[in-house]
Amino acid sequence: MNENLRALLYLLAAVAFIVGLKRLSSPRTARAGNIIGALGMLLAVVVTLIGTGVSWWVVAAGIAAGAAVGTAAALRVKMTAMPQMVALFNGFGGLASALVAGAEYLRSDPAALPIETITSMVLSVVIGAVTFTGSVIAFAKLQEILGGAPLTYRGQRPVNLAVAATIIGLGAWAVATSLALPFWVAGAVALGLGVLIVLPIGGADMPVVITLLNSLSGLAAAATGFVISNSALIIAGALVGASGVILTNLMCRAMNRSLGHVLFGAFGGTVAVAAGAAGSARATSADDVAIALAYSSQVMVVPGYGLAVAQAQHALRALTADLERRGVRVVYGIHPVAGRMPGHMNVLLAEVDVPYDQLLDLEQSNAVMDRTDVVLVVGANDVVNPAARDDRTSPIYGMPIIEVDRARSTVVIKRSLASGFAGIDNPLFYKDGTAMLFADAKKALTDLLGAMALV
Ligand code: NDP
Repeated sequence: MNENLRALLYLLAAVAFIVGLKRLSSPRTARAGNIIGALGMLLAVVVTLIGTGVSWWVVAAGIAAGAAVGTAAALRVKMTAMPQMVALFNGFGGLASALVAGAEYLRSDPAALPIETITSMVLSVVIGAVTFTGSVIAFAKLQEILGGAPLTYRGQRPVNLAVAATIIGLGAWAVATSLALPFWVAGAVALGLGVLIVLPIGGADMPVVITLLNSLSGLAAAATGFVISNSALIIAGALVGASGVILTNLMCRAMNRSLGHVLFGAFGGTVAVAAGAAGSARATSADDVAIALAYSSQVMVVPGYGLAVAQAQHALRALTADLERRGVRVVYGIHPVAGRMPGHMNVLLAEVDVPYDQLLDLEQSNAVMDRTDVVLVVGANDVVNPAARDDRTSPIYGMPIIEVDRARSTVVIKRSLASGFAGIDNPLFYKDGTAMLFADAKKALTDLLGAMALV
């Protein structure tokens, strides 16, 4: 293929990636954005393969095998297990980058390589290896194969720093001397570093780790792009790297954690407080809640992980539609880390056609809280925990929350007083303005709709 034409088509693919990413920023355009990005990637792959003399049969067999596994996994995975799946995908992305760079190293004469190529190879193998094992550990934690709590030991930080310094030293040695031994040992030690970095991280910090690994997988891909001189891979990798960093930053802010704290703070699990320790909660019934809802002028629904577990989005929509028919204004307060992945609640609510203009972000929700008659908390816990605002000793102190305790009244739908992901008690449940509707979210919402018919 003519090199100018190839460059032009790569440019087109890059434009598709950027337009696709831009469209992902709103639920309204996200589906189209996904398709545009995927088409861009298809174009980049085809353009790369043309003229390389590669056997199309081998490529087709690879695509078929990958597509079969990917489709089966995507169809079977539960919405609540998405973060694990994303973690695995990141890991395999990192592994693929490391393998391509390693293969290029094997088939070339390292002594004859320009310094920038061998540096890219080292970076690709090292970052790809860290991403792979780090993602496997993140997967194992989220899947509860390993305990979700941080695994710590004395001297962990100095050990990790020493391992990282060893890798840098080995990498520099490999670049300076073109020797194979330090190159491969750096890759092997990097596999160990991925495990060491993620093991001490636990609890509510896991989502940040996933986005960070996502970013690293992009950087590994970009480095591999330099190794094989492929501009589409460099651009795609850089976009993944940059957007991963932006998302990591947003998540850190949403949880009021610095990245340093996430990586070295060993937060979560160890600080669990026995549920119910703070006093007694007031239980309510569907009939009472139905009356309060029907006579409200504004109701805010704050969904959380429990909504996803119960798959209660359809029951929720039926209830809110009924309220709207009665002239009640309904809004939804969406916390950026509600659920188990960024955008989790938006996806669930989009599935049942909740109008986008009813979705309020954290700041907007808090701004209208004083004017809200009833807040219906559906399976949310950590994201509405006032200890994050009031209790300096709380491990989540400083994390921005949806301040549902400032509404005129609050109803919390969940099955018990059990803690949420962060493993800490929630004083909201014991406040005067709070009533607990103890039930599975789907059953509670269905009962509420039934009770509304009698109001
Ligand atoms: P939480 O995990 O704090 O709480 C969820 C609550 O849902 C539980 O307390 C549980 O209580 C309840 N629940 C579970 N199943 C049901 C059910 N069938 N019906 C009704 N309730 C149910 O959820 P939040 O959304 O408030 O907070 C998210 C947490 O997850 C944060 O700590 C966040 O940092 C973390 N996280 C977020 C990610 C993200 O990107 N969004 C990714 C990974 C973690 P009970 O058992 O009593 O019913």
